[in-house]
Amino acid sequence: MDDTNRSIFVTGLRDAHAMENQALSIMKPQISRIESYPAVARRLEEHVRETEQQIARLEDILGGLDETHSTVKDWALSAGGGMAAIGHSLAGDEILKNSLANYAFEHYEIAAYKALLAMAERGGFEFALDGLTDSLREEEAMASWIDEHLDQVTMQFLSLKESGQTAKI
Ligand code: MG
Ligand code: FE
Repeated sequence: MDDTNRSIFVTGLRDAHAMENQALSIMKPQISRIESYPAVARRLEEHVRETEQQIARLEDILGGLDETHSTVKDWALSAGGGMAAIGHSLAGDEILKNSLANYAFEHYEIAAYKALLAMAERGGFEFALDGLTDSLREEEAMASWIDEHLDQVTMQFLSLKESGQTAKI
């Protein structure tokens, strides 16, 4: 029973590690492309720093269990699947597509950390609770920020389109 809880927890931690690497690979290209939405770019930059901390926390927890993260999963696991797929939009609405995908991705992360917290509690891995809770709070804050700014970003997008702006994001 202990072994089962432990191996499920380790698998979950490795999946989360891959998820966070995917988060970086989603956010970093967005930051480099945004020109017209500096507040979004700044919040994404902040969340990249938080994400790097989240990765370090997961590595600490895995280390505490004498485990390492899975490089294979980091490359192969596609957390969130199609929801997280960011394409360059021919419709010129990349900022909107990214906002929706980021909103979905943050909620996937929230669910992942909630599940990890439940596993840590059930398995008696108390040492992991604080770090996982910190990461959960950061995901919730990012999801809330996207939620609170979706209106404004959409309005700005519409204004820019109305004024004939085409290529810039
Ligand atoms: Mg994260
Ligand atoms: Fe996140």
